[in-house]
Amino acid sequence: METSFEDVAEDAGGSAPSAATVADDAEAAPAPAATATAAAPGPGPAAAPVSAAKAPASLSPSRAGDFMQCPLLYRFRVIDRLPEKPSEAATRGTLVHAVLERLFDAPAAERTAPRARSLVPGQWDRLRESRPEVGELFADDPEGERLARWLGEAERLVERWFTLEDPSRLEPAERELFVEAELDSGLRLRGIIDRVDVAPTGEVRIVDYKTGKAPRPQYAEGALFQMKFYALVVWRLKKVVPRRLQLVYLGSGDVLTYDPVLADLERVERKLLALWEAIRLATETGDWQPRPTKLCGWCNHQAHCPEFGGTPPPYPLPVRVADTGGVEQGRMAAD
Ligand code: SF4
Repeated sequence: METSFEDVAEDAGGSAPSAATVADDAEAAPAPAATATAAAPGPGPAAAPVSAAKAPASLSPSRAGDFMQCPLLYRFRVIDRLPEKPSEAATRGTLVHAVLERLFDAPAAERTAPRARSLVPGQWDRLRESRPEVGELFADDPEGERLARWLGEAERLVERWFTLEDPSRLEPAERELFVEAELDSGLRLRGIIDRVDVAPTGEVRIVDYKTGKAPRPQYAEGALFQMKFYALVVWRLKKVVPRRLQLVYLGSGDVLTYDPVLADLERVERKLLALWEAIRLATETGDWQPRPTKLCGWCNHQAHCPEFGGTPPPYPLPVRVADTGGVEQGRMAAD
């Protein structure tokens, strides 16, 4: 029988984002370009680091995806914490997520498309206050034309959501939920789930919004990896296998769903353990290989990447001497 997640108990309530939400990426996310100066390349005196480099201690879906895409990219983001410039697409995604989340503050009957659109300017103001570096995106747009177009695109994405889901019939159990669980091996998994719905029967649906387009069917498995990661964390925390994983693609107007079984979560756990072992080995040896793909076009770090004639910054962690297995308390000059 199909589970209904719509019209769930009105008193289920939603949760405001917690301070922990911010902490999810605080440990292992690239620093904003406007504020971070760690490991800056080029001549002149070395800039003061934002914080001392640390070996990775946990894994999120984004960073796991980074390592699978390119180990060197993972290193730049997690260990070197090289600054990254905000992009229009990623910032629009953050803005749209904020609008969808805040819309659930309104009573169910008022969760309309015009109301959601009206939230866009205010949420943009809030985003600029909390992350001043995003204001740079439109620093060369004195007339505000590009900004107006960009905000219009955000409004269209928000509007499209109403063709895919009806928020007046939803009462999320959680929004922007920070989750963290430790596996038996000691590996800590963490992440932020956009929305958790709980049906009156107790069945759980995990929902993630994407502002891009749905992947072609042959790439759907990659897209579901993040959702299975979250499902594994929920299973470890609550001993409940989520009934449904749902990706809502606002860019193309598609919804991708998957109903996981326990074997899926066990499989993703094995995959994450193997991934973590590879990360641990690279951390100890300092051997982070670049893996060039067409995604390099979106990489912020070509100037540091040997594949593009660049040189990585000095490796900031102790490295293991390969032939003895010991750990040398020195620093590698470069990869
Ligand atoms: S440019 Fe490509 S190969 Fe180099 S670090 Fe970035 S993603 Fe990896």
